[in-house]
Amino acid sequence: MTHPRILVLGTGGTIAGAGASATAAAYQPGGLALETMLANLAALGLAADLAGQEVARIGSQDIGWPEWQALHAACTGALADPAITGVIITHGTDTAEETGFLLDLTLPAGKPIVLVGAMRPADAVGADGMRNFANAVRVVSDPAAAGRGVLLVMGDAVLAARDARKAATSSIDAFKSFPRGAIARVTPAGLDWFGPAHRVGESARFNWPQSLPRVAILTAGAGMDEQPVKALLGIGCKGVVLAGMGQGNAPACVLGALANAAASGVPVVRSTRVDEGIVDRNVEVDDDALGLVAARALGPAKARMLLMVLIANGITDAAQVQAAFDGEKV
Ligand code: ASP
Repeated sequence: MTHPRILVLGTGGTIAGAGASATAAAYQPGGLALETMLANLAALGLAADLAGQEVARIGSQDIGWPEWQALHAACTGALADPAITGVIITHGTDTAEETGFLLDLTLPAGKPIVLVGAMRPADAVGADGMRNFANAVRVVSDPAAAGRGVLLVMGDAVLAARDARKAATSSIDAFKSFPRGAIARVTPAGLDWFGPAHRVGESARFNWPQSLPRVAILTAGAGMDEQPVKALLGIGCKGVVLAGMGQGNAPACVLGALANAAASGVPVVRSTRVDEGIVDRNVEVDDDALGLVAARALGPAKARMLLMVLIANGITDAAQVQAAFDGEKV
């Protein structure tokens, strides 16, 4: 029987992390070359042919436009190559949320594209990376994984990149998923999807941009004033995401400054600094009057990625930006 052929795109992160010893706290993310990782994985006897391509060897806190461009191009090539079953991207967990959502917004929901990371370095006692990787291979090898958008495999769970976020700094069960929970449970011995693929045949929602604009996240805090908003506009931010209190609230002076920004053509999206929950329009904040956009289910990190993609595609009008956050095609 022929094995599925999987393109493995390495970016570094803790899954490729190397420490001073198996019990040391300090380690270097991306210390391990992808080639070495693949050699280690060969010992697992996975039923897949893995073809590696190293995009970067960095901690994902340093990821940005050059790596995203390379990942998007490699995924686009893999989607068009009939010999390739799917893609696994090894990635740091700090920004897996951003990379996963960016690719989800800009790639068709065809073959499976799975991000995988680890919370413990590859050479640490109780390392989780090999298991997560074996689980990712299992997911990509399953025809039922197609048509679900970009996925994240961590902690024996499969999460949609649209929903996933890092919610713990060091626990191996570090990811949460909102508004949907995990969409499948996976172990090296089994894979159970909790529902059918619902994005089969869906094309890319947005064109891949030429570049991404500067969009900042402003976290609201009690007693703050409007000067930080002015500072962000002063450094040329093309959009602002408010990580507001509760359902996207902020002191009146801050909302006033954000409304001025919106009136000057800088789109402003209200998200929340709260772990989880919907931010709806016109609840305590009069979005209609202030020209603001409600992030709905997207937390600040994902709201920023969507806003960057929208602005890069020339979409800055508040109603159109809101439509995109509502999940509509614009
Ligand atoms: N700082 C690391 C990274 O994101 C953490 C990890 O991978 O878990 O690359």
